[in-house]
Amino acid sequence: MSEEKSLNFIEEIVEADLAGGRYKTIHTRFPPEPNGYLHIGHAKSICLNFGLANKYGGKTNLRFDDTNPVTEDTEYVDSIKADIKWLGFKWSNELYASDYFNKLYELAIDLIKKSLAYVDDSTSEEIADQKGTPTEPGKPNQYRNRTIEENLDLFAKMKAGAFKDGAKVLRAKIDLANPNMHLRDPIMYRIKQAHHHRTGDAWCIYPMYDFAHGQSDSIENITHSVCTLEFVPHRPLYDWYIEQLNIFPSHQYEFARLNLTYTIMSKRKLLQLVNEKLVDGWNDPRMPTIAGLRRRGYTPESIRMFCDKIGVQKRENLIDLSLLEFCIREDLNKNAVRRMVVLDPIKLVITNYPEGHTEEMEGENNPEAEDGGGSRIIPFTKELWIEREDFMEEPPKKFFRLGVGLMVRLKSAYIVKCTGFNKDEKGKVTEVLAEYFPESRSGHDTSGIVVKGTIHWVSVQHALNAEVRLYDRLFKVENPAVEEGDFKDYINPESLHVIENALIEPDLRKATFSERYQFIRKGYFVLDEDSSEEKIVFNRTVTLKDAWAKETKKGIGK
Ligand code: ATP
Ligand code: MG
Repeated sequence: MSEEKSLNFIEEIVEADLAGGRYKTIHTRFPPEPNGYLHIGHAKSICLNFGLANKYGGKTNLRFDDTNPVTEDTEYVDSIKADIKWLGFKWSNELYASDYFNKLYELAIDLIKKSLAYVDDSTSEEIADQKGTPTEPGKPNQYRNRTIEENLDLFAKMKAGAFKDGAKVLRAKIDLANPNMHLRDPIMYRIKQAHHHRTGDAWCIYPMYDFAHGQSDSIENITHSVCTLEFVPHRPLYDWYIEQLNIFPSHQYEFARLNLTYTIMSKRKLLQLVNEKLVDGWNDPRMPTIAGLRRRGYTPESIRMFCDKIGVQKRENLIDLSLLEFCIREDLNKNAVRRMVVLDPIKLVITNYPEGHTEEMEGENNPEAEDGGGSRIIPFTKELWIEREDFMEEPPKKFFRLGVGLMVRLKSAYIVKCTGFNKDEKGKVTEVLAEYFPESRSGHDTSGIVVKGTIHWVSVQHALNAEVRLYDRLFKVENPAVEEGDFKDYINPESLHVIENALIEPDLRKATFSERYQFIRKGYFVLDEDSSEEKIVFNRTVTLKDAWAKETKKGIGK
């Protein structure tokens, strides 16, 4: 990425509009439908909409696009607000499309009075049938010629609840032969005897997206209404309504939605995962939701950095999940405190170290931090836990860890030399034996011994237990959305690996939800909300390096 960033195409439009005097100031909106939790794709839209307003001194409305009573819920409204705030953005006004139901109803009457809308009694099948195909014009039916009076009367009766669901619709009277199917007399209102999360039972007719969205933009004086590419063919209709109604000229611009490898981005499908209990709720750390990413340990900074790096395009593409992981590593490398945790323990006994003795070692909190990060005390004793994989009975060449005769540094402590090991009757190694070099203590090393490897450890006497949850991609295939069959068949059965008895250094008793941790050599971790007084639970946010990139897992060096 170049240091000096060029403008994205929407910024170019905004700058031209401001320079040309089309608008004095800009006003954008973020319009979520409260039918699910926000995901990383929404973050792209949030960063774009709020980012434009921040950059050009404008405003951004948060508008809940709540025109479909059946799928919406206040739980979603609350989560959406919490997520936007957490991402670091402030909206100017919190608005609801449902607050405009009266106004939209009046606008519909205005169109009827202009002979630009009519009540149609056809069934949805008949309407689809009469619409024709992209190569064949549609056919008008007898309802299209209803008089203004008749239409006003029937529309009022629709509103009053005189008809059953599906019995009638209000349609715009545009052009049944238009090559753009969206202009072939689109439906404006349908009857739905359903309870709405805000308006209750006040309404039984609800506006369609196309009639609600642009009009809501216009009511709010939105200058740049930014949406995703699938709405390109809707734009002529967006413009038609605004022009015929002669209301504030909002304009729609489209950008490519974010698609991320190994991820599903549709709220409907994410809801299926939640409902079918294939994940532990909307905030399962494997979910691409903002709530899931937060629980996983992602920071707002890392998500904003990601959105900045992917930019804003006019063409669909698939972004590599490893770019998101790169961004969180960048952030956490600077901001996570270092701690030692053993995930798969084997005991190391330092045979020449005094029995019952404890030394307080000083461990740096974060060598990458600008202020040095301070330090903490790590107790060191004769018996330590180390990772089982850091010992080999028959080590190959260039194994810079433990094997009989090999030396390593114990992080922040001494250099030790492996002298032997013990096995149980089944042949499993139960203990590794070593001798330490008293003059090699970290920070005061006068031993002159040079070793290539450094390993982490935890004192057996002082170690605490914790559950550690390791995550992998939720899907086995790059683009589950385009695979044949059910997307759920592509779920990665190994996306969660729970280590019930990890051994953690005692300082982690003080772990907080806001702090981020690097477990040395194991990755970045965060405390999980399932933690309690009795049980400490950590989530791995991301490994230290991209495990999927081509690299050997051996030769860990320091
Ligand atoms: P979904 O298909 O996941 O249900 P949606 O488009 O129906 O998404 P909305 O709540 O309507 O969800 O989205 C609010 C805003 O976020 C819209 O302006 C929409 O264009 C944008 N948005 C949704 N998904 C993405 C994405 N993957 N990338 C970028 N913007 C997105
Ligand atoms: Mg939508």
